[in-house]
Amino acid sequence: MTVGARSGRLLSSMKAPTLLSTRTLGIVAVLGVSFVASVTVEAAGGGSPRGAGTPVRIVIDPGHGGTQSGAAANGIVEKDLNLIVALRLRELLELDTLDTAGGGEWDVRMTRETDITVSLSARSSMANNWPADRFLSIHHNGFGDPAVNGTITFSFANGTLAADMRDQIHDEMLAGLGFLDRGTSAANFHVLRETNMPAVLTEAGFLTNPANASALTMPAAIEAQARAHMFGLQRHYGQTPYVPTDGPTTYCTAKVASAGCLPAIGSTGTPSLASSDFLVFCDQVVSQQFGLLFWGREELQLPLLGGTLCVGGSATRTAVQFSYGLGNGNCSGRLELDMDSTFLNASGFVAGEEIFCQWWFRDPGQLPLVPVGLSDGLRFRVLP
Ligand SMILES: [Zn+2]
Repeated sequence: MTVGARSGRLLSSMKAPTLLSTRTLGIVAVLGVSFVASVTVEAAGGGSPRGAGTPVRIVIDPGHGGTQSGAAANGIVEKDLNLIVALRLRELLELDTLDTAGGGEWDVRMTRETDITVSLSARSSMANNWPADRFLSIHHNGFGDPAVNGTITFSFANGTLAADMRDQIHDEMLAGLGFLDRGTSAANFHVLRETNMPAVLTEAGFLTNPANASALTMPAAIEAQARAHMFGLQRHYGQTPYVPTDGPTTYCTAKVASAGCLPAIGSTGTPSLASSDFLVFCDQVVSQQFGLLFWGREELQLPLLGGTLCVGGSATRTAVQFSYGLGNGNCSGRLELDMDSTFLNASGFVAGEEIFCQWWFRDPGQLPLVPVGLSDGLRFRVLP
């Protein structure tokens, strides 16, 4: 990457008058070049996001799909709910891998990621050929009697590694969903019998039971199911159940503000190379300020009035590598950078990489260019 990448996607939701916008952007371009020229531009770094351990290979198997709907009742089609839970479970395991503070390291594959038909033998073969270390099949139940309800979890046999994983996940499912405990059981299902690694099949609840069905479609229950699978897996591997950080965190407490200047940083969405809706913003821009968002691969060290004001953490500090600038016209409002997938990929980011952002401000009309404000820093990880 080069500083030339600066022609990227800086967006502003501000509706500044055209005349002011033009003038502002011109000045900011000068500002940006001026600042970038004063810092070291480094070659792209690329440390591995993973620790020294070997990730556990997990196959997540969302039951049914395509022409095979599975159970269907009370407005829910099983194949759809299975996939929703499975995709969130994958996301959680990937976040857990990226978050080195707790939990484990997982290498995740799915037997399907969309609504397609996949045979049972294709599912077991995929896991055996990889080969996976563990196999998790996600299902929801159905029965003729709508009164029947509750959680059941299966493995091929009792007294096995698979049964241990089964029991751990089952307990977490009960704790997370609060449904009736229908117990754990051995079952002669294809995906449990034909997989060479410990395998578990979960039936969180009955779609044919109105109470189970209405609960299962709630976002909280989907999250609870996904977490229960992750927690059970973590326990099975001797880890304490851990919810990984799945949002950006601020890291710098040395926020600086002048009168009429309230720089603050925030974000929405998830930064992902596959489908990012990540947005970094500042919505407290006042007093005709100009704002620049500086971002890089290391914690930023921005000079402000001759001092170094970012003093958080123990991260190795190097100069900012890349920067974007954006002016905000003669009004207060919001600045934002849309870090969508196109932006992240075009900028050469890799999954697991930590990115640091910080807003830098100055008031217009001041020469030489004197900064007056600095936001907290924002740290996030790029997801696959
Ligand atoms: Zn099923």
